[in-house]
Amino acid sequence: MRLCAFAVSFATMLIQQQLPTIDPIKLEVNTNSVIVDMLRIDKVHSQVSGNKWYKLKYNLLKAKEEGHHTLLTFGGAFSNHIIATAAAAKEAGFKSIGIIRGEETLPLNPTLRLASFMGMDLHYVSRSEYREKTSTEFISTLEHKLGYFYHIPEGGTNQIAIRGAEEILTDKLIKKYNYIVSAVGTGGTLTGLISKAEGQSEVIGISSLKGDFLTDEVKKWLASLQKEHLTKWSVSGKYHFGGYAKHTRELIAFINNFKIENGISLDPIYTGKMMYGIMDMVANRKFTENSKVLAIHTGGLQGIEGFNRRFGKLIY
Ligand SMILES: *Cc1c(COP(=O)(O)O)cnc(C)c1O
Repeated sequence: MRLCAFAVSFATMLIQQQLPTIDPIKLEVNTNSVIVDMLRIDKVHSQVSGNKWYKLKYNLLKAKEEGHHTLLTFGGAFSNHIIATAAAAKEAGFKSIGIIRGEETLPLNPTLRLASFMGMDLHYVSRSEYREKTSTEFISTLEHKLGYFYHIPEGGTNQIAIRGAEEILTDKLIKKYNYIVSAVGTGGTLTGLISKAEGQSEVIGISSLKGDFLTDEVKKWLASLQKEHLTKWSVSGKYHFGGYAKHTRELIAFINNFKIENGISLDPIYTGKMMYGIMDMVANRKFTENSKVLAIHTGGLQGIEGFNRRFGKLIY
């Protein structure tokens, strides 16, 4: 029994983890005596940042168990998941391949340069080919071309990724906080949070994408875990600022001001939008009086450099 427990804890440490901290957040307006704290999972690893650490953890383990030597995944040219996979693969002793959407542009942007520096083999596919990323036919074509690999889907979401994301929360956190709030991309992280919270805390996702398909997506993932009975959650589509990777001056000003006020950097794709949403919800009394809110800092800070280069320096 003891040996077994040791083996598990050893195996789950294929990649290092620093413990997250909890930081209090200053509120601009607070008419409802709400407290907002931030769970800093952006600090769990220097490169496998935030929620991607949790989502990759059991995938790495499974890949090792199945005797794989190579991880393959998909992403856009500025993807946090691409960086996280490249770094995790390097640390855990895998080769890695990134299938990147669109044409190669040289010089490489900071994200792809770092991924390549960490040993990731980059392959570019056209946008139309990229749309085939989930088809088994396309995957086997890739296997034919590139050799055998462990496939991690775009964004890193699959069932065992969700199992990892459940571990972002602890029983203590669920007891203490009335609300848990996270940014949403594929919905994998949010599903993990909902699954772990089990209706004790209310879980709110702030979507970075335009459109309201994410509620159905999360429902689908919950059903795959036999947890469709959990209903104390929602996805807000109010704070996408024009859609994925879109931004406004107001969002950038908010991110810069948040850094001055709290000393915490936010990224413009996910966590900036989430925090903006939380501040707006506090101001509009969307959280009940005297409640405690836990905002998850899911990371993504690697993207700031590339963002600033693309748009001229905007985020400090
Ligand atoms: C990928 C990512 C998300 C979205 O996570 P999903 O599990 O895909 O919903 C949120 N925040 C950051 C910083 C991310 O990199």
